[in-house]
Amino acid sequence: MSSDRGIVIAGGGLAAQRCAETLRRRGFDGRLTIVCGEPELPYDRPPLSKGVLAGTTGDGVHFRDAAWYEDNAVELLLGRRAEALDPGERCLTVDRGERLPYSELLIATGAAPRTLPQLAGFSNVHALRTLGDARALGSELGAGTRLTIVGAGFIGQEVAASALALGAEVTLLEALPLPLAGLLGEPVGRWLAGLHEEEGVRVKLDAQLTGARGNGRVEELTLGDGTAIGCDVVVAGVGVQPAAGWLAGSGIDPAAVLVDAAGRTAVPHVYAAGDVCRAFDTVRGVHTRTEHWDAASRQGTNVALAMLGDEPAPHVMPSFWSDQHGVRIQYVGHAEDADRHVIDGDPAQRDFTVLYSRGEIPVAGLAVGRPRELIAMRRLIEAARRGQPANEPAIEPTT
Ligand code: FAD
Repeated sequence: MSSDRGIVIAGGGLAAQRCAETLRRRGFDGRLTIVCGEPELPYDRPPLSKGVLAGTTGDGVHFRDAAWYEDNAVELLLGRRAEALDPGERCLTVDRGERLPYSELLIATGAAPRTLPQLAGFSNVHALRTLGDARALGSELGAGTRLTIVGAGFIGQEVAASALALGAEVTLLEALPLPLAGLLGEPVGRWLAGLHEEEGVRVKLDAQLTGARGNGRVEELTLGDGTAIGCDVVVAGVGVQPAAGWLAGSGIDPAAVLVDAAGRTAVPHVYAAGDVCRAFDTVRGVHTRTEHWDAASRQGTNVALAMLGDEPAPHVMPSFWSDQHGVRIQYVGHAEDADRHVIDGDPAQRDFTVLYSRGEIPVAGLAVGRPRELIAMRRLIEAARRGQPANEPAIEPTT
């Protein structure tokens, strides 16, 4: 590998950090550059909707201090954006037209929040993806603030819990009949809605946002059934999309950044990891985008191994956690493959598990307040998976 060109990482989140750390730990001594659009040292996102917003964590979410990057000769280009990729010349173009030649490139630009046209242009409408977003939202929340959250996914739910802890009056809107029931099933969706209601969040289901009224700031949201909701602050928590638009014209489809089990795209010397990509699941034989911490961390590490010519770690099932109202929710596997589930324990006491199966085969598990049982379910599901190998389809190089 020619170390004069060096390894370049586009994006500076979790996957980027894991890749850089693994490269240095495994002895890569060439040039190593991280290009990150944010002005911050790389940091961890899960605390943003939890302790950072609730004011219990402070801003101490950075993976490493500035000295670590200096000591490890990792050049950080902060506040700089990757704008184009030229795989023929092996060059990444960043803003101001600067071109960075690379020997190997990692695409790790993560994901960006989806927006709603009804909420465009209002200054009190927030998304939550970055530390800057968390600070801006936190500065608007306090006792008695009327906060409406559009979208009851995990981010929306965590924001609801954290804002409630700050004394805000919180309304959580969900367009579907139940939150997250498509993946986790109706009983869990009902339980999640009930958890928030018990804590004092006003939950409105089947709530179709039709409009917003206000002068510069949203003062009132309107729903399809004619309901009007007065608000001081609005959070749009309606999912994310890959931050991959900058790859247009590069030979990699920004709508589907496919990688093999080692994180290689179809373009030679170009890898991708984390929320931006669809990684190949060697067991299920499909490419999936995961959008969770554990996958981004593992994929970033795997890309470093591949760049150094080492074998990737074996595929691990997706998993995530969420903290809401002092309750830890953990999940592992692929509940989307399930056709049945069994609940054990007492949801009313916030102490239960759900084992999801396809026929007799366990495919996913959810644990509320029972971390040890998640480990047992993971083992059970993994053992079942080992009996069902799938062959990896080749991704053919395009250049
Ligand atoms: P990111 O962490 O998004 O990093 C990408 C970086 O690239 C960003 O800094 C971005 O600004 C930068 N970038 C984007 N475009 C460009 C460009 N063109 N040029 C240069 N830089 C660019 N997961 C869980 O499992 N459990 C949780 O409890 C949990 N909580 C979360 C809470 C919040 C508020 C958020 C936002 C996410 C949470 N997640 C959680 C998800 C988890 O944090 C992500 O899956 C993980 O951060 C993905 O890492 P990544 O490196 O792929 O992308």
